[in-house]
Amino acid sequence: MILEKLVMKINEIFYSIQGEGKLAGYPTIFVRLTGCNLRCKYCDTKYAYYDGREMQVEDILSNIKNYPCKNVCVTGGEPLLQKETPALIRKLLDRGYKVCLETNGSIDISSIVKIEPKNAIIISLDIKCPSSGMQDKMKFENIDYLTEKDQLKFIISNKGDYEYVKGIINQLKPNCEIFMQPVWGWNPKNLVRWILEDGLNARISLQLHKIIFGNERGI
Ligand code: SF4
Repeated sequence: MILEKLVMKINEIFYSIQGEGKLAGYPTIFVRLTGCNLRCKYCDTKYAYYDGREMQVEDILSNIKNYPCKNVCVTGGEPLLQKETPALIRKLLDRGYKVCLETNGSIDISSIVKIEPKNAIIISLDIKCPSSGMQDKMKFENIDYLTEKDQLKFIISNKGDYEYVKGIINQLKPNCEIFMQPVWGWNPKNLVRWILEDGLNARISLQLHKIIFGNERGI
């Protein structure tokens, strides 16, 4: 029998701490996939749009075996643009990794929520706010798939974004933790004040990796 070789385009693989969301601070292996269908105005990973090298899934697994860590973040770009991503995640789970998938809110996540066991993957779903210029590309039905283990992330640049997010939270009542992340370089004091004034059940995410290491690639 000839086994099918799964080939993916990988922008970078590196080992650092998770800087965002509920897993912030944990050692994590990042597998960044090449390609993104969006062009957010504040994008800090433009280098992932095209650059990368083709790797077989088995080679990705051999590569990450070298790190003393069982947490893997599959990110991008937009990882769901590559049809092999569910298979990669499946293989990671089979090898005992805890997987977090970061996705940009514009692609249907139903292929991911079907992966068994259902609680094994943390889905980190971005919903793009007006300041991104990409808010019309969002698939809001993805929010219905999220459960307590998952997270919804909003990058906030101004009061308009904040009010937009507040409307989404009040209307759709997501079933998971909600993170508001100030765009890098914007002082989050006002964002914190607005959350406190409204008593919004949301958490601040501060990109811990950038605070520690600076705005560098591969950390
Ligand atoms: S989804 Fe992420 S990688 Fe794609 S343009 Fe937006 S910020 Fe950049």
